[in-house]
Amino acid sequence: MKPLALLNSGGWRARRYGRVGIAIAPVLAACVFYVDTFTEIHSAIAVFYVIVLLLAGDALTERGILLLSGFCTALATFSYGFAHGLDPDLAAALRLVVSIAALLITCALIIRNQRARTELLKFNAALQRSETRYRTIFEQSRVALWERDYSAVRDHLMSLKANGVTDLREYARRDRAFTGRCIALVPVIAANAAALELLGNVSPQDVSSMRCDIAPDDAAFFDLLTAIFNGETHYEGEGTIIAADGKTKLVLITVGFPDDVATFDRVIVGMIDITEREMTQKALLEAQSALALASRAATVGALSASLAHELNQPLGAVVVNAQTLLRWLRRDPPDLQAAGRSAERIIRDSQRASDIIQNTRSMLSREARTPEEISLIELVHETCALMEHELTRNGISIEIETKPDIRSVIAVRIELQQVLINLISNAIQAMAGVPQGRRCIGISIAENDDGDMISLQIRDSGPGIAEGGMEQLFQPFHSTKPTGLGMGLSISRSTIEAMGGKLAAANHPQGGAIFMITVPRRSVND
Ligand code: ADP
Repeated sequence: MKPLALLNSGGWRARRYGRVGIAIAPVLAACVFYVDTFTEIHSAIAVFYVIVLLLAGDALTERGILLLSGFCTALATFSYGFAHGLDPDLAAALRLVVSIAALLITCALIIRNQRARTELLKFNAALQRSETRYRTIFEQSRVALWERDYSAVRDHLMSLKANGVTDLREYARRDRAFTGRCIALVPVIAANAAALELLGNVSPQDVSSMRCDIAPDDAAFFDLLTAIFNGETHYEGEGTIIAADGKTKLVLITVGFPDDVATFDRVIVGMIDITEREMTQKALLEAQSALALASRAATVGALSASLAHELNQPLGAVVVNAQTLLRWLRRDPPDLQAAGRSAERIIRDSQRASDIIQNTRSMLSREARTPEEISLIELVHETCALMEHELTRNGISIEIETKPDIRSVIAVRIELQQVLINLISNAIQAMAGVPQGRRCIGISIAENDDGDMISLQIRDSGPGIAEGGMEQLFQPFHSTKPTGLGMGLSISRSTIEAMGGKLAAANHPQGGAIFMITVPRRSVND
């Protein structure tokens, strides 16, 4: 029987005896009084009042016990007075004193006993409330909770320790059946609803007959054994359990070991099913790597598109110059001087193509691209010279408007030049439908009042930016040309923005498109 039940039954028994005792007590008191007062027996008869107290004590309150003790003392004193009157008898007086002392001691003991019992009952009630609370939490928790008996496995581990085993892992490596044996030593005592659900909706009866649901090859169980072996206070880890339907589930296990070795027979084990979380995590990782692959593919695609776009111009120029060179050589007699100039242009354009590839490569490898001091006036002239062939072929005139003392900017030359080539190429292409003689590109370079920003504008005499096209103008892959890639403006804008500048576009009130670059004198990359 449990101690709580014992206590309760003790209380009930005390109440029953109390009722019987209170019925007998007055009769006994009357008998004692009669014998003590009216008979000639020379003995401490009054001591028998103690029995009266004992009989009635269980049914009386503390106050009642005190009153009864006082009443019995008064009766004993009266009997002495009645028998001896004013004629003192030392022996009789001593017997009276002994009787009164016995009465008082019994009274004190009964009161102390009663107080102790009340305390015990209070404690019992509190314990019962706590047990009910614990049961409610245990049953209603959404976390799978088990009560398991770890006492046998602990004893086993401690006996190994006592026999000199210090390295449990090494021991388990040599004795392959060790973990399985330990699993069998951990019976389940109780499991809450969440635990039953975790195990695949098994019935509570089945749970108590189960030995253990932990997978035999599970590393977590061995770690848990190690925690007990090392005398740790708790264990937390991820493990696998086998549900009733044979499914393996991944769970987060948490066990708090009691300080009191005697309570190892009722250890609470908590488990949270993380199978789905792990699966989601896995799916997320897979999706992430797929996304990374896709974005790498997109980057490579965008880079190839950019390279194709950037290389188109120098390679086209190389082809045209090579054809011209052949023409000069096939002349009779060959014009070697003109052929030489074409060859020089081929070398120059090939060099530019190589620079573009080099720059793209360094962009990919994050190599430091060396910014340098660049005069925008010089760069514009140089770029126009590079594109001279294309400009002449399309009958386009260039007008450059600038003050001579414009200060230089610090930037990566090839990048800035690429922006200019993009904008000039677009202008050339935009004017394809404009009658010859009216095709003109105006380039102006200026400095702001503070001298910290340089602006460069490129205006053409084409039809201007198509209606509705302004918003998407700088979007990658936006193109209105049948063979356009739509990368030029987006690359140009990011290049200028990386320098801490801005690239904007508008339609000029007098016709044609105008592209405006503003760059700080010093690049942000410096
Ligand atoms: P692509 O030249 O390959 O089309 P861009 O990014 O360089 O790519 O240009 C995107 C679009 O912006 C062009 O297709 C064109 O419609 C428009 N655009 C660019 N420059 C001009 C310009 N000077 N005049 C009119 N439209 C232009």
